[in-house]
Amino acid sequence: MNNIYLDHNATTPVRPEVLKAMAPYYADEFGNASSLHSFGRKAREAVEHARENVARLIGPCEPVDIVFASGGTESDNFAVKGAAYALKDKGRHIITSQIEHLAVLDPCKFLEENGYEVTYVPVDREGVVDIEALKGAVRDDTVLISIMFANNETGTIQPIEEIAAMAREKGILFHTDAVQAAGKVQINAEKMGIGLMSISSHKIYGPKGIGALYINKKAKISPYMHGGHHEMKRRAGTENVPGIVGFGKACELARGEIEKEGARLSALRDRLWNGIKKDVKDVEMNGHPVKRLPNTLNVNFKYVEGESALLNLDLKGIAASGGSACTSGSLESSHVLKAMGVDEAAAKSSVRFSLGRTNTKDDIDKVIREIPPIIERLRQYIRC
Ligand SMILES: *Cc1c(COP(=O)(O)O)cnc(C)c1O
Repeated sequence: MNNIYLDHNATTPVRPEVLKAMAPYYADEFGNASSLHSFGRKAREAVEHARENVARLIGPCEPVDIVFASGGTESDNFAVKGAAYALKDKGRHIITSQIEHLAVLDPCKFLEENGYEVTYVPVDREGVVDIEALKGAVRDDTVLISIMFANNETGTIQPIEEIAAMAREKGILFHTDAVQAAGKVQINAEKMGIGLMSISSHKIYGPKGIGALYINKKAKISPYMHGGHHEMKRRAGTENVPGIVGFGKACELARGEIEKEGARLSALRDRLWNGIKKDVKDVEMNGHPVKRLPNTLNVNFKYVEGESALLNLDLKGIAASGGSACTSGSLESSHVLKAMGVDEAAAKSSVRFSLGRTNTKDDIDKVIREIPPIIERLRQYIRC
């Protein structure tokens, strides 16, 4: 059976070009990038070349503003805890949103247990942060605002420039988790006024276990990982050279394809939604209809258990997801949909389709054919 992968927001396959670029750095070019001899220098050169490619994808910004870390989760922890610690004498209040990834929410909870206060601003029905609530939450002791660029479950994109401008005006550091947005939509961290920005390699066809935090020169942040002088004394630990090389290659490839691949994916995504709407009654889309990632479609199949729909799709070789990969397996419904005002039942009936490079029009047409009988069968079962 030909499997169809529609879960690219959870992770993506490593592109062959990326794998090829990485391979030498596991064997022949194994040097430690901090060593001064020729082995070390070769590794250092590769790391700095990758840093330039990462900087170009989210800018151009200056390569020295890019600090490599072990992924999106570490970058988010680094940003939130590192900024909170560095600014602790200025204030201990942080503002974030109710729809953040757990990699931001959990560090915020940790800080709350350690003397900080956090305001979680609400979002509207389409998942867009309430700007007035955000402004209203600002206090004299607010030191950090962290709002994600695009949501992993619904794809909804936030008005990042507006939020960044507001934060700058009030002299507050602004962090954005751009793990889902980087490589999918155009980003210029410097021009957009972003202070800190997290990105991850495995969401853009690079290897897992590597990511970066963009740190604008004006941003005050303490190191999160201690143990050496690596990464300009900002993140200790021997550099993951093959990972960094792969991440750099993935960024280089993504940069040239944002417009074209974005147009292709949004056409496929809309084809999928129109196909579902045409043949299945009582469906609703979760998320903003326009301000949304080109690859993401979150559908509420009313009266159906989302988990059952996913299992049945899987039997047909179709891999989709409910909510985010991090919370699937738990019986809790999505905190993102809940914050949008989607009721518990509807949240549990929702399925996320996240498209990517591996998908073709034929795939989408097959999915459109497979969905209606599955939903119909599940609805009969539930009614009797
Ligand atoms: C995947 C993801 C993360 C975590 O990144 P990892 O590299 O998997 O640690 C953080 N934020 C968002 C929005 C994500 O989608």
